[in-house]
Amino acid sequence: MAERIDHNNCRILISNDDGIDAPGIRILEKVARELSTDVWVVAPEMEQSGASHSLTTRRPLRLNEVGQQRYAVDGTPTDCVLLAVKRLLRDRLPDLVLSGINGGSNVGEDLTYSGTVAAAMEATLLGIPAIALSQDYADGGPVPWDTGEAFAPEVIRRLLHLQWPEHTLFNINFPPVSPGEAKGYAVTHQGKRAIADNLTEGVDPRGRPYYWIGQMREAGSAEPGTDVCALSDNKVSITPIYLDLTNIPVLSALRKVFEG
Ligand code: MN
Repeated sequence: MAERIDHNNCRILISNDDGIDAPGIRILEKVARELSTDVWVVAPEMEQSGASHSLTTRRPLRLNEVGQQRYAVDGTPTDCVLLAVKRLLRDRLPDLVLSGINGGSNVGEDLTYSGTVAAAMEATLLGIPAIALSQDYADGGPVPWDTGEAFAPEVIRRLLHLQWPEHTLFNINFPPVSPGEAKGYAVTHQGKRAIADNLTEGVDPRGRPYYWIGQMREAGSAEPGTDVCALSDNKVSITPIYLDLTNIPVLSALRKVFEG
């Protein structure tokens, strides 16, 4: 268990995968400033949705100062957190990393693709408590940012009162409705959705075929207790995510097969 975070002297680092100019990161900055006077933003220059936990190793990276305690990196969310922790803030490390607020939910299988969650993973690997935040929205509708903005401060405050569990980040998803229509909180486990086939095919101006990957999951029937189900019930979903990916119950059967 990590030490409790000192609320009065908390340094917060913010990142995301939608890019430093995305609306959600501005909202998260506002939320963070309600909790602390020492807020830093290090985020990708360009959108990195779907970048997952990728790390840029084949070219140099730049840390460009774009405002007071705001930096843009020409890389991935993981690059941003790594540069912030290992260089920019190395003399006084962040106490908390917040990633988001992502435009769109990150539930079920999204966690394996999400750059938003990956920024929180990187912080967790570096030993810093981290929370990923995403705002769900109805297909084709506007993103109800008010909902994330209304619930995020309270969610973060309550999580900061925990003894932070090791190797764990918290994945928060806000429901696709207005703050008044939200039905409170649900503590959830990672769910699953049906696999869709949403590949757009075409021919480019030079006559070569192309494929464009769209939304590859669809709601289906959500299992109770999951992040997917909480959002369909219009609740704020809170999921503890553990970074040890081992399937522990399988270990003993596997040992019998390989070790006798
Ligand atoms: Mn995104």
